[in-house]
Amino acid sequence: MTRKERFHSIIGWFAQNQPAVQSELHYTNPFQLLVAVILSAQCTDKRVNLVTPPLFEAFPTPEALAAASFDQVYPFVKSVSYPNAKARHLIAMAQMLLADYSGTVPSDIDELMKLPGVGRKTANVIASIVYDQPVIAVDTHVFRVAHRLGLSDGSTPRAVELDLERHIPAAQRPIAHHWLILHGRYICTARNPKCPECPLSAWCREAFADKEEVAAEVGEYLATLVRVRRQRAKESGLTEREMEVIRYCREGLSNSEIADRMFLSVNTIKNHKQRIFAKLNVRSVSELLAAIDRMGII
Ligand code: SF4
Repeated sequence: MTRKERFHSIIGWFAQNQPAVQSELHYTNPFQLLVAVILSAQCTDKRVNLVTPPLFEAFPTPEALAAASFDQVYPFVKSVSYPNAKARHLIAMAQMLLADYSGTVPSDIDELMKLPGVGRKTANVIASIVYDQPVIAVDTHVFRVAHRLGLSDGSTPRAVELDLERHIPAAQRPIAHHWLILHGRYICTARNPKCPECPLSAWCREAFADKEEVAAEVGEYLATLVRVRRQRAKESGLTEREMEVIRYCREGLSNSEIADRMFLSVNTIKNHKQRIFAKLNVRSVSELLAAIDRMGII
């Protein structure tokens, strides 16, 4: 499958089955979204959504946040990751918003990236969600999912971003970011991805690779098993034909049914059985089956 075909199938599936997904961060205006996205770096949206309501209530505008001290902001964000840096970034970001952008969150990605605490990923999230720009933010989920699915082999978030933007139509880029994030968060998780229930497994490079790996391991195991059993059968003095008779006995076939299968006469099957009984020192089919189970021959 070519990369183009893979994109076509995967994006097509999302478009058909998840036509309306959005950010799981809670916000009511671009400023709040910017604060929430800064806080979400290396942190879960769930945690950020617990932190932001009281934070937004205490500092509802860029003006309020810009005027706050570190000690005033820190208690609100202390439960997110990197609270010291994030508290400082939030205040500095609000101050720059006021000084350079009249308190309005800019739409230009390069301008957004000048704000403290705002990297390319955060800038792309704001540009796509607030300003509907045709960019894709690549966070850890998007990076992982894009690699596993075979949508990109880029070694940096920027390289993955460019691969995704090259293949995903501009109009679908803002929502594609959410598709991939949510897929990574709930299905294609970092540890233990839920491949058996993944709707994209048919097009997924990694799921396919896993299957090949498992198949190779199973194949190797079976080959070893066959080798061991052949060796044990040889040691017990049984011929290939006698082994075949034993297999049919195990299936519960009668002498005449075995004879039909092997294109031999019933008498020949009876003779085979007598020889098998003698070699394994048993007197009946049930003893024979118990013996070969014990010996691990078949
Ligand atoms: S099949 Fe597995 S590895 Fe591939 S995208 Fe789905 S969950 Fe992830």
